Amino acid sequence: MILYAATSNPGKLAEFGTSASGAGIEVLALPGIKSMPEPVEDADSFMGNAEKKAISYSLLAPGLFVFADDSGLVVTALGEAPGVRSARFADDAGYRMGAGESTDTRNNALLLELLQVAIDRSARFVCALALARDGVVLLRSEGVVAGEVLHAPRGENGFGYDPLFLLPALGLTTAELPPAQKWELSHRGNAFRSLLAQIKAGSF
Ligand code: IMP
Repeated sequence: MILYAATSNPGKLAEFGTSASGAGIEVLALPGIKSMPEPVEDADSFMGNAEKKAISYSLLAPGLFVFADDSGLVVTALGEAPGVRSARFADDAGYRMGAGESTDTRNNALLLELLQVAIDRSARFVCALALARDGVVLLRSEGVVAGEVLHAPRGENGFGYDPLFLLPALGLTTAELPPAQKWELSHRGNAFRSLLAQIKAGSF
């Protein structure tokens, strides 16, 4: 079976592909995705956005099994923000720093600023996946990993909020984990393993 990923992110493709090959499933980038119109990610839930993308891209690729993901950071003390707005957290707030700072740097700086006096620093990464064919959602899965927001960044791996996201049981941030270990623990890894298990169980 071939699953077509609605992403052109090479890092994500490699992670999905390695994990699926153990289950005898091939993951390929959806052909032509870069020239397809991108659906607007305006749902109020991770699953809503994942479904929207899976439906929209699968309609453009008739007959193919297309899966899409949406993920982000949910922080308890911020009323579950940034959530589905994780990628655009600083932009939404009009939060600027010196010229040339990356989006990730600005997002992390804003997060630290908003949590300056927070006692509860609990947070979780969430990933929703939806698999669709011809515009019909066939399967859904969700993965979560719980942690805490540190007071200062640590680690060089990963991306996004990884340098601030502490896994208390390990005493390490997700930016301090080797990529393979992050995949074993991560929200995206958990969501994808759950999707593979449903496929193997023939749940559709
Ligand atoms: P996407 O849905 O995978 O594109 O992720 C949206 C945003 O959530 C990213 O731009 C990051 O800010 C954040 N995010 C999602 N997954 C991770 C992760 O594994 N580590 C750090 N940040 C993440």
